[in-house]
Amino acid sequence: VAKRLEKFKTTIFTQMSMLAIKHGAINLGQGFPNFDGPEFVKEAAIQAIKDGKNQYARGYGVPDLNSAIAARFEKDTGIRVNAEKEVTVTSGCTEAIAATILGLINPGDEVILFAPFYDSYEATLSMAGAKIKSVTLRPPDFSVPLDELKSLVSKNTRAILMNTPHNPTGKMFTREELNAIASLCIENDVLVFSDEVYDKLAFEMDHISIASLPGMFERTVTMNSLGKTFSLTGWKIGWAIAPPHLTWGVRQAHSYLTFATSTPMQYAASTALSCPDSYYEELKRDYMAKKAILVDGLKAAGFIVYPSSGTYFVMVDHTPFGLENDVAFCEYLIKEVGVVAIPTSVFYLNPEEGKNLVRFTFCKDEETLRSAVERMREKL
Ligand code: GLN
Repeated sequence: VAKRLEKFKTTIFTQMSMLAIKHGAINLGQGFPNFDGPEFVKEAAIQAIKDGKNQYARGYGVPDLNSAIAARFEKDTGIRVNAEKEVTVTSGCTEAIAATILGLINPGDEVILFAPFYDSYEATLSMAGAKIKSVTLRPPDFSVPLDELKSLVSKNTRAILMNTPHNPTGKMFTREELNAIASLCIENDVLVFSDEVYDKLAFEMDHISIASLPGMFERTVTMNSLGKTFSLTGWKIGWAIAPPHLTWGVRQAHSYLTFATSTPMQYAASTALSCPDSYYEELKRDYMAKKAILVDGLKAAGFIVYPSSGTYFVMVDHTPFGLENDVAFCEYLIKEVGVVAIPTSVFYLNPEEGKNLVRFTFCKDEETLRSAVERMREKL
């Protein structure tokens, strides 16, 4: 394996899902729903295939989808974007992240992350030869330590890569935090790459896109996807929205990474994004019920449960059970209890910082969640 990837192992999500299968454990690890996406979206994909929408799509997206993405972004943020010049369709948000980083970051550029961070950020930044710095969001509220963030910005800082609602903590960036990040970026001429795939899973406060703050659109790439919102994580439809001078970099990388994204799925995605608001409301209601089952169950089992405002994840402190670290705890949980969670130390530059923390997901049907919490209550 190339040197730049030597330190990365099989992703923790794959490792834990394999263990779930091996031990027949209930998988509250990797974030994928164990229920299906909506009929109207699946039907739209079948129809698109039957209608012969099966050859290469236009590189930056089929026109219907670019327009649907622009319309949803305007509805959500009030910003009118040009669907042809400012929207790029990618193969999932993971590719949007990769195309953004590879298209806009030079070797040696510094990029700041908020730890714990989603694992692909660090690996992709390494592929681009970026220098990674990170500021840690700490429990109980995972708020942004602004002075620490400021102290990391240097003349070589090219971008801040952020994520709200935040995986794995469930933290949502507040307006005050976003304003402070925005001022810092404007003063120091820093870009923002903002991963907002959980924007429709915002329970405790409203989601705010940093691109919507004054002076920020021109320096922000906003990334999102279909997978979480429509419970279709296997479809891998994502996108990046950015002003033309940044879109140029994103598209250059995208053109040579994947060239284009699955054509029929893009047509179905445009149908999905044209859904009425009631779809999102129902999704949120369903997830709030699931979240309550998991959170109450984890508390009853004896975990210290940190508040999660958005995403379908909850972070807990496992130390009441006396195991030495997050990895040891997750192993015990799989083998002795039959439940899978995600150890979080891989999401920090310094793994020590995650040793007390474990992430559970509640994107499972209620029966599965109930069985999992019952096992934990009985056996932990
Ligand atoms: N985003 C999902 C999670 O955080 C996992 C995606 C993956 O397996 N790479 O659980």
